[in-house]
Amino acid sequence: MKEEKKILRKHIEIKGLRKTNQRYKVLEVFLANDEHLSVDELYFLVKKRYPEISHSTVFRSMKIIFNAGLAAKIRNFDGLIKYEHSYKHKQHGHMICSNCLKIIEFDDIQIKELLKKAAKEKEFKPQIFRTKILGLCKKCNSA
Ligand SMILES: [Zn+2]
Ligand SMILES: [Zn+2]
Repeated sequence: MKEEKKILRKHIEIKGLRKTNQRYKVLEVFLANDEHLSVDELYFLVKKRYPEISHSTVFRSMKIIFNAGLAAKIRNFDGLIKYEHSYKHKQHGHMICSNCLKIIEFDDIQIKELLKKAAKEKEFKPQIFRTKILGLCKKCNSA
């Protein structure tokens, strides 16, 4: 948390954003959870600990936390954005269930190696890799 807080503080300073303690509280709750969270889900958790923080503060704080490079976005089936930690977080792929919207992480190192190779062959400079599989989770598939 310490390091992340420093990164966020630096970002806020560079961007000349308003300094409020609430952003760090949102960051704290976000980092305390290893889940993939939508703004609504995060707000629910924030509210339990810091009832004074509003939904719009959580919404705006997550944008800032994302821009500071501390969060990654995953777009779900319904277009809903979920956030997860990105700072020092191991790279991975996502499987998203179209029925229950559950997100399952998996190791995609080998897939990424293949993608890098393909990019190299075409002299394409890769910047972002996203491995995403849409489908049905075990539970929904057997129901
Ligand atoms: Zn499912
Ligand atoms: Zn993930």
